[in-house]
Amino acid sequence: MDPIEYAKAYYLQHYTLLNMWNLTPGVRVVLENGGPQVCRFCQRSAPEVTFRLKAHAIPEALGNKGMLSRYECDECNKHFGSTIENDLGNWTLPMRTLLRIYGKNGVPTLKNERDGWRIECGDGTELKVSHNRVDSVFEVDEAQKLIRFNLKRGPFVPLGVRKALVKIGLTLLPEAEVSNFEETIKWIRDPQHSNERMVRMPVLRTLMPGSMNGQMITAALLRRSQPNIGLPYAFLILSIANETYQVMLPSPQLDPPLDIAPMQMPVFPVGLGQNRDSICVALNLSDSERVVDEVLSAVMSYDARIQI
Ligand SMILES: [Zn+2]
Repeated sequence: MDPIEYAKAYYLQHYTLLNMWNLTPGVRVVLENGGPQVCRFCQRSAPEVTFRLKAHAIPEALGNKGMLSRYECDECNKHFGSTIENDLGNWTLPMRTLLRIYGKNGVPTLKNERDGWRIECGDGTELKVSHNRVDSVFEVDEAQKLIRFNLKRGPFVPLGVRKALVKIGLTLLPEAEVSNFEETIKWIRDPQHSNERMVRMPVLRTLMPGSMNGQMITAALLRRSQPNIGLPYAFLILSIANETYQVMLPSPQLDPPLDIAPMQMPVFPVGLGQNRDSICVALNLSDSERVVDEVLSAVMSYDARIQI
């Protein structure tokens, strides 16, 4: 069977779409429970905690302006912003520039004053690359009209990146599901990262080559449809511009027991059907040691088609 058709049939059989959002720039979506404000992440309410800050359901750095939640208190907001969301921001930094994702202060500019190069988004949507001399940050293949960038990610803790992706899924959960993730919520707030029950499979990242709108964000939640089957209970599917992340949302009480064989399943076929050149990689994101100076290699053609 064609692998994409197989994946579609697999997910139709085993998973239910809990919810899905296509975020449109300029349109506000506010997630709320309806009752008094209680923080989903620390279970506290006013006046013990305040809810004055904008709580972005998906970090603003990833291009989300309009989707907010009313159930993240200011203290948790600041805590996540200075810990795991910082890991996610540093890890995604070069890709956010290359994909022209418009964050809090516009598309991030990458530069190195000492070596004299700069990559930034111009007035339009094109990417401007300037340099004083050819440097290891990129190589140009004039015959094929290709530029290969070798860009450093900011310092990050891999498990922190994973937790920040899981946190997006936890924020998007309908209230009725939250009790299935109590341990997961504690885990993402915990500065101690390791917990083998929470890291059961890699984060899957699919890159769809080609030019795409950097402001496009789609998020979906999948939940296992049958109760007694050896598959993960829930996933977040998050697409931002050309990239899609499939992230398991661990629920130790509902996921298969730890001692059963590793689960084999196809990648969720979002986007793949539209472009069979898509490339999927499995990212461990399971180490709790800080990583510095990791280099991301990306190839772009002059017309801004991108490949990793
Ligand atoms: Zn809180």
